[in-house]
Amino acid sequence: MNQWLPVLFLIGSFVYMMIPVIMSRVFGLGVYKRGRQAQQAEVAFTFDDGPDPRYTPELLDLLKQYDVLATFFVLGSKAEQYPHLIRRIHDEGHQIGIHNYIHKCNLIIFPWKIKRQHINRTADIIEGIIGERPSSYRPPWGVLNLGDLFLLRKSYYIVLWSVMGWDWKRQENSQKLIDRLLRKIKPGSIVLLHDSGDTTGADEDAPRQMLEGLRIVLQELKPKQYSYVRTDTLLKKRVAKGYPIDQNIHATQHIKSRVI
Ligand SMILES: [Zn+2]
Repeated sequence: MNQWLPVLFLIGSFVYMMIPVIMSRVFGLGVYKRGRQAQQAEVAFTFDDGPDPRYTPELLDLLKQYDVLATFFVLGSKAEQYPHLIRRIHDEGHQIGIHNYIHKCNLIIFPWKIKRQHINRTADIIEGIIGERPSSYRPPWGVLNLGDLFLLRKSYYIVLWSVMGWDWKRQENSQKLIDRLLRKIKPGSIVLLHDSGDTTGADEDAPRQMLEGLRIVLQELKPKQYSYVRTDTLLKKRVAKGYPIDQNIHATQHIKSRVI
């Protein structure tokens, strides 16, 4: 029996780690990666890893200038540190989603710990600041484990992306990012960018290039007349999961009355 243990361990690890990655990243099962292209000229920009005192305010100014509503997948620890930024994101009509309490990969955390110590904890922090509970979750690096797929889907919409900016590394200039976004953005796209550069593997000043590139992209996309919307608008998922129905109606009315 003992000689089979390593084999069983390897098979178990594969099922726990690789199956959900293939299911969600390749086939999009249990997650949302884009809106329906045919009927929508809508695009959803999303910004991960913030809020960041250096870049988020500047990003918010840029979004306002181009009439863009977006979604921010924030870290609970940073929301705690910079509540004024969370408040500003919310007040300007953007959606706030969850991206764990700290930027840790779900493969090395037990699913029940992810839910309790990262996601629900971050939801509590955000609700404490803006009075509204987030309904969407994006795991760091887009990586889910098998337990997440079952445990989290009941309470949160798991939102990945269809266009990745590859913007977390500093490049010679922002041209590559601009070309990539202009080539790939289509109706229904969910675009992944970052408004903070202090997570593992990122360059601290990479968001500077993201901001330069995004300004040009928004300018260049003007003739296409896209509506830039939050992911909950794009996916038509404005009603939060896991709420009793009466609270949900309240939440929906609140959102409707707030969003332009
Ligand atoms: Zn991230």
